[in-house]
Amino acid sequence: MSDDQTRFLLDSKFDDRVSILIVYPEDPQYSEISGMFESRGHAFFYHEAKMIVMDGAAISQSWFTEDHLDVVHAHELGHFYANHTSGSEEDERQADWIGIQILQHHMRKGAVSRTAIDLHFDEFVERYGIDPHELDEHYQDVFSDSSEISKFLGKQINVESSEFIIRQWKNSFN
Ligand SMILES: [Zn+2]
Repeated sequence: MSDDQTRFLLDSKFDDRVSILIVYPEDPQYSEISGMFESRGHAFFYHEAKMIVMDGAAISQSWFTEDHLDVVHAHELGHFYANHTSGSEEDERQADWIGIQILQHHMRKGAVSRTAIDLHFDEFVERYGIDPHELDEHYQDVFSDSSEISKFLGKQINVESSEFIIRQWKNSFN
């Protein structure tokens, strides 16, 4: 990045209607939107512009990898597809659940690594104390009328679920 560049605009690799704007703390407008990062996390979805706005400060952290970027990206698309605007805890849980479906969908197409999905799974369990697949039936019901979301819901969910349970089971012996 050149020294004077404080923001980047990228195309979403998951949805060509959506773009991603990364804004770094050096940007003149950063202070106007940093409050949103504080309340929503590393990013938020700007519905009017179909744009994911990401915090450059988070992306600059040494722990932040491309897998983290994919997780945040998929989560924000979850807000887009579910038309969320409130930032409520239930909206966050829904976006996390949809995000996992999006990552699984794109992993099957080779655009997402297994690590990104594991990361999102572990985050989900840590945040809500529940395997996201336990909510599959519930959310498939909630989103049954949404064409945006139902395209990501497939049979593979059950395979993923059993893999996850086996992984957790193995981890319990470590
Ligand atoms: Zn969110």
